[in-house]
Amino acid sequence: MTQTPHHTDVREFHPRARAAIADPKIRKNFRKAMDGLITKRKDAFEGWDLEALRDLGANIRLRALANLPDLLEQLEKKLSENGVKVHWAIDGDEACRIIRDICVARNAKTVIKGKSMVTEEMELNHYLDDHDIEALESDLGEYIVQLAGETPSHIIMPAIHKNTGEISELMHEKTGTDLSSDVEYLTASARHQLREKFMNADVGVSGVNFAVAETGTLCLVENEGNGRMTTTVPQCHIAVTGIEKVVGKLEDVAPLLALLTRSATGQHITTYFNMISGPRKPEELDGPEEVHLVLVDNGRSSIYQDDELLDTLRCIRCGACMNHCPVYTRVGGHTYGTTYPGPIGKILMPHLIGLDEGRHLPTASSLCGACGEVCPVKIPIPDLLVRLRQESVDGDKLNPAKVRGHGAKRGTLEAMVWKGWSWMHARPGVYRLGTKVASRLRRLQPGNLGGWTRYRTAPKLAARTLHERMKERSQ
Ligand code: SF4
Repeated sequence: MTQTPHHTDVREFHPRARAAIADPKIRKNFRKAMDGLITKRKDAFEGWDLEALRDLGANIRLRALANLPDLLEQLEKKLSENGVKVHWAIDGDEACRIIRDICVARNAKTVIKGKSMVTEEMELNHYLDDHDIEALESDLGEYIVQLAGETPSHIIMPAIHKNTGEISELMHEKTGTDLSSDVEYLTASARHQLREKFMNADVGVSGVNFAVAETGTLCLVENEGNGRMTTTVPQCHIAVTGIEKVVGKLEDVAPLLALLTRSATGQHITTYFNMISGPRKPEELDGPEEVHLVLVDNGRSSIYQDDELLDTLRCIRCGACMNHCPVYTRVGGHTYGTTYPGPIGKILMPHLIGLDEGRHLPTASSLCGACGEVCPVKIPIPDLLVRLRQESVDGDKLNPAKVRGHGAKRGTLEAMVWKGWSWMHARPGVYRLGTKVASRLRRLQPGNLGGWTRYRTAPKLAARTLHERMKERSQ
């Protein structure tokens, strides 16, 4: 099986964006898919008081985040009482090591995986592969992406960048499936290929959509049944989640689920909703004998300490912001070179990888506000984009230690110009003299001001300053 490649260099965003815009196939695939999802979402909320539901969803997430440390402790206690072993990982490497150690202790050689963005974030497949453990993706989209040796291009639909013809060719080449445009046939072939793997896998790894502190329940939303197979067929199940996925009570799950499925795929409910509360009990017929939960921090606790950026952690990973983003729908997910693309990626990734690498991400937006308007938990994405843009340029003045690499976008010349500008504005005499001299020398003003004038005309200095004109008027 081809392993999913490492994510590409984030700093190459601009050349990749230019190449993507010039590729009609990418634009057509994304446009078609995103238009369909936008319509389905709209129809799914027909008859609902969407704003009231969004308020409820936002409040549930805000309340959970406000009590995050306590809820995490409660979750650990409840899960332990239920027989689930809880592990804490400070970063992706530690989480990978924990999972490998569990596999080694069970002498496991094969892992079957359900869809999980946090394992993408920590590049688990590579890690396991490097330690002679085969990890096979079981979600159809993830399976296709893994066959192609690519990374997912969307957090809900990993293979959305491929059309049926491309998938058919890929499956034909990699697995010998007949060439066909019949989606049912292709799906059945993939199911057949995966079924045997399910039966023989030593360990199942899954993500978590909501972890309920009150009851110690791990909730998993999915459509294909592969999540249920992953969490019940192998004798050992390892769930992996970011620490922010915890909610206080079981009753919090229903509104979030209603928002998640409708926002993500326009479904009223997904085909499967799994609630896992522990390993198989003696009287039960199936289920794993061992269940683990790995709670991954990976930079989240530093985001948590910033009152504004904390909002990022509300995300329930529905992908609606991507579907509605005019930038994402034109360039596609691979252009970003990050685990999370689109608007959520632009505000989340700079925390995870730092602004020296991710400095271009917050600028990949028209600030049209669509992402903020559709976000089911009301994350103020445009505000956070503006904050990160500002921080990427003059971070040394704004919350110095909050986002690693702050100020990375600031060029020395530009910094000097702005410093001089603010110095001059603080001194009225110098300001008057400076503007007078500049207006007299206006013919020497350069017409080309780098990036600023690439798509717009440079403003011309006036022949006389405002002070001079006001003086003339009052005479
Ligand atoms: S930021 Fe909002 S819209 Fe985007 S994935 Fe997260 S919850 Fe969904």
